[in-house]
Amino acid sequence: MEDECDYLFKAVLIGDSAVGKSNLLSRFARDEFRLDSKPTIGVEFAYRNIKVKDKLIKAQIWDTAGQERFRAITSSYYRGALGAMLVYDITRRPTFENLPKWIEELRHFGDPEIVIVLCGNKSDLAGHGIRQVDEREGRTLAERERIWFMETSALANLNVEEAFLHMITQIHDIAVRKNL
Ligand code: GDP
Repeated sequence: MEDECDYLFKAVLIGDSAVGKSNLLSRFARDEFRLDSKPTIGVEFAYRNIKVKDKLIKAQIWDTAGQERFRAITSSYYRGALGAMLVYDITRRPTFENLPKWIEELRHFGDPEIVIVLCGNKSDLAGHGIRQVDEREGRTLAERERIWFMETSALANLNVEEAFLHMITQIHDIAVRKNL
């Protein structure tokens, strides 16, 4: 898609395996979705064009395609990313407990001003008695880290659009402030 756009932003999805990153991305990006598979690196990415405050933004969102453990891809994965969606699974506590490790990696490899949005995914399962992380815990962590938080469900399509739009709007605001 070679449409005229005012901004092109890159953002990345991160978090443990099977928390729902790919499903969040495909839910958000019905526009264009592509899998680039090479022998050592698999990266999926998707584009979506969005209007924010009269500007047309092309958001390019990267997903690890199941290669979260591939440390070799780390620096190139984060390069140029202005946003990161950090995802855990509310029904699997270890995915929440690993968040500090992901945040440390982000602070190390990411842009100093990278916009981080924390998503507690699979909120549709909350009523099934298998929740292992309280919503309050996600909120507390996010406040401490000064990042934005929302529980989402890729399956039930709850807050997915909101979470991505929040991230993209924040990136847009930073770009405007920096005169990019
Ligand atoms: P990734 O490894 O983080 O990209 O996770 P995937 O998107 O591949 O999802 C892992 C598993 O969780 C799959 O079986 C999905 O169907 C399931 N899943 C993803 N998002 C949700 C959700 O919001 N709710 C529920 N109940 N299952 C989900």
